[in-house]
Amino acid sequence: MDEQKKVIQIAGSITVDELAKALGLSVTSLIGELFKNGIVATINQRLDFETASIIIDELGMENVVLERKNTATKTSDIRHELSDKAIARPPVVAVMGHVDHGKTTLLDTLLGKKTAEGEAGGITQHISAYQLKHEDRWITFLDTPGHEAFAAIRQHGAMLTDIVVIVVAADDGVKPQTVEAIKFAQSANAKIIVAINKIDREGADVPRTMADLSQHGLQPEEWGGDIVMVPISAKVGTNLDKLLDMILLTADIEELKADVDIPAEGLVIESHMETGRGSVVNLLVTGGELKVGEYIVAGSTYGKIRTMLDWRGKPKGKATPSIPVTITGFKDLPSFGDRFVEVADEKTARKMSLLNAQAMADESASANVTSTDLLRMMNTADNSKVFNVIIKGDVLGSVTSVVDSLKLIDTKGEITLNIVSTGVGDINENDVYMAAGENTVVYGFNVSVPINISKMAARDGVPIKTYKVIYELLDDAKHEMENLLDAEVVEEDQGEMKIKGVFRTEKTSIIAGGEMLTGVVKPGMLARVIRDKTYIGEVEVTSVQKEKMDVKELAAGETGGLALKTEHKITVELNDRLKFFTREMKKKTL
Ligand code: GDP
Repeated sequence: MDEQKKVIQIAGSITVDELAKALGLSVTSLIGELFKNGIVATINQRLDFETASIIIDELGMENVVLERKNTATKTSDIRHELSDKAIARPPVVAVMGHVDHGKTTLLDTLLGKKTAEGEAGGITQHISAYQLKHEDRWITFLDTPGHEAFAAIRQHGAMLTDIVVIVVAADDGVKPQTVEAIKFAQSANAKIIVAINKIDREGADVPRTMADLSQHGLQPEEWGGDIVMVPISAKVGTNLDKLLDMILLTADIEELKADVDIPAEGLVIESHMETGRGSVVNLLVTGGELKVGEYIVAGSTYGKIRTMLDWRGKPKGKATPSIPVTITGFKDLPSFGDRFVEVADEKTARKMSLLNAQAMADESASANVTSTDLLRMMNTADNSKVFNVIIKGDVLGSVTSVVDSLKLIDTKGEITLNIVSTGVGDINENDVYMAAGENTVVYGFNVSVPINISKMAARDGVPIKTYKVIYELLDDAKHEMENLLDAEVVEEDQGEMKIKGVFRTEKTSIIAGGEMLTGVVKPGMLARVIRDKTYIGEVEVTSVQKEKMDVKELAAGETGGLALKTEHKITVELNDRLKFFTREMKKKTL
């Protein structure tokens, strides 16, 4: 290595103090440099790897090389490249789409269950998975509470779905959540298959739905594009075999593979506590073979697999890639989206879970500056407003989903989301207590609010909002955030007139006439007076005349007169241009 180069190793993050020492700068001069870049930092603030490298770039220290320190055996350090011994695995499919377009019905019909009609009031399904056999081959279906769950998994750095089936009702067309599903699938690099549903319905219009979809970038194969679209009826069962054929065909083209002779690994897709069973965790295996009795680590927890069941609840001895299983034996609840890996023994498991916990603490210590924060600080003039929330959910998976999805709302740097606390279970006294006085909204997802708690909240002026549908919760949060934004002035150009005569000029009023070159002018509009390309001042149009009669407007090509009101003494002269515009205060939207 070049002797001039200076190597700084960073494990998870580095404090301003440590970085200054490593760079050979005094702390004050580093803080000063940071400040010049719009970052207000203290000596003990932790900077993550990306932030530290941005700062070194900003400092122009080209001789400094940042390296990630190898702390060897954290879960995230274990990565397997596919070997040439990798074998074919079943596709993992997610079904997404707008509410009521038939996702549940499709899954139910496919699985031969007839429970769609009875869902309300029944057991709410959480992120879970099913398997189905078609043409003697397995397909794994994920059932999720929404695309947000997937966005959350993406946030956790893991990729889960091979194919996304987007369900669009042929009698309703493309709707906002359809668009979201398309965006999600594209950003997750998943293959898209469209199921155009409810073709049994009167009013179903398949070609129109296809046209709708192509407006959103999905070109049907029939029309020369590359997206398979299958018209189906989830309820009647029409064409479902064809849909499954297409899923398998897509899987073949993608050549989905995994290694099986490696230690087992995969992702946590659901976790909750059950009396008598302890932690009950749904896993999706992505590599290796998972067996009862093995030690696994996920996040800051580990366990020895005590029982393993398939998606139907039947005992399973061994799970291979793409297979979802429910296991017990974890000491604690791992989080939704966590990666799990198999390790040799309890000692290794304990050590790795501790290292994971340390790394997680490093990364999420609230004082840390992440590169996202850094960009935000660089982009905003420190006038961002804070939206405080407390999130309660029925299971850990839904809390994680809600939190991660809230973080994904693009606030254009104007609102800072402050998650005061999160937790599993009904909304309680402590939540209300924490929210009081701080302008905080308490959100509950699939949880209830005991009467005494809602009384207490009403007394303390704490808003509590509960939802069963994640989009609705997110919509509300977005709306609440919009309410925090100041209104903004919006001006819109309307037209232009060339002045051909000035009839009267008084202190605060002018009567002039001319020809409309473009657009329209109406009473009430404002105008900028421009003389030889120089801005003279602003006037208000109080009335518009055509052939000496008051009219509602003058349009391009017409000639007429205007009465103008001025605030400051300005004049309008022959050949001036009046540029008309409207000015409104509008509430900003996100
Ligand atoms: P989800 O919100 O996307 O899961 O939608 P559901 O599966 O709950 O379906 C919403 C409604 O549409 C239910 O009343 C279903 O019975 C109905 N539905 C779903 N698929 C079809 C279909 O292919 N044809 C008809 N006629 N109705 C359907």
